[in-house]
Amino acid sequence: MKLTGVEKCLFPGTLEEAAEILEHEGDNAAVVGGGLGIITARESAPGTLIFLEKIPLKYIKKEQNHLKVGARTSLSEFMNSPVLEKYLSGKVRSAMEGISTHLIRNQITLGGAVAGRAPYSDIVTLLMALRAKVVLRGQAGQKILSIDEYYGDFQDIRRQYIIEEIQLPEYEGDFAFAMERFTRNATDITLLNMAVLVKIEIGKVEEASVTVGSRPEPAYRFPEGEEFLKGKALSEDLARLFEDFVREKVDVRGDFRISEDYRRHVSGVFARRIVESLGGAS
Ligand SMILES: Cc1cc2nc3c(=O)[nH]c(=O)nc-3n(C[C@H](O)[C@H](O)[C@H](O)COP(=O)(O)OP(=O)(O)OC[C@H]3O[C@@H](n4cnc5c(N)ncnc54)[C@H](O)[C@@H]3O)c2cc1C
Repeated sequence: MKLTGVEKCLFPGTLEEAAEILEHEGDNAAVVGGGLGIITARESAPGTLIFLEKIPLKYIKKEQNHLKVGARTSLSEFMNSPVLEKYLSGKVRSAMEGISTHLIRNQITLGGAVAGRAPYSDIVTLLMALRAKVVLRGQAGQKILSIDEYYGDFQDIRRQYIIEEIQLPEYEGDFAFAMERFTRNATDITLLNMAVLVKIEIGKVEEASVTVGSRPEPAYRFPEGEEFLKGKALSEDLARLFEDFVREKVDVRGDFRISEDYRRHVSGVFARRIVESLGGAS
């Protein structure tokens, strides 16, 4: 924890004001969500911290075919919200229940998790698979990007925009979701995670979104995996074939925590389990 360089803690009353401070201070300022990423970062915190406490950004609502979640909503608040109970048959909630501990989940904010983009983040992997949208507010006004677009232009956007809201499309009917993560213990960082969303039409996968994170690089969409699943019926045979395919093609490498071979092996196991779970859900 290195907060010794902090000179100013500002509490703007509006997002516009916060965005103005961010743009004016440049790299010398950081927006504070739950603060966990900031206090555990290797580098020192910047001189100016921008707190969003005075801005009403803690909410979860259903509107226009989306779940809309304010950026300061904690992971616990989101998980425990009644709107998440039925969302994708409760599978998103159970995936979140596995993340770290109660104390940490009480502190993580959705906005901080997305903007922090920790390479091992389960939340980023999950939100990318769900094709979340990121609502941003800068001096130039509001803009809404898909989470892929947000990460596509990450460095520039982060300097100019504050995350106001995360939106999750409502998936009614024939959609199924499953996620797996692997960690040595509750407080250790995740060593690999994978999330898959599929749309089933007449017994076959019509659309798929497959994301893999903590590779150890940040989460990415795995388009070859998505193509592989399309047009196929979810079955035990498919689960075994997907296991082999993912193990061969997924983009992972080793680091000081685990070897590439081990990550590859676990990727295959996750791929099989996920197809089995999706098959059970469909
Ligand atoms: C011991 C421990 C274990 C953990 N285990 C896991 C795990 O297993 N899986 C997992 O997914 N996560 C885990 N986390 C959480 C993860 O590492 C990040 O710390 C967390 O997601 C950051 O959320 P935060 O709200 O605290 O962000 P902050 O630290 O407040 O912010 C992170 C970054 O985002 C920026 N930011 C914050 N809010 C906004 C906003 N509204 N707009 C623009 N920029 C913003 C900040 O300036 C900063 O750069 C763990 C954390 C700890 C401490």
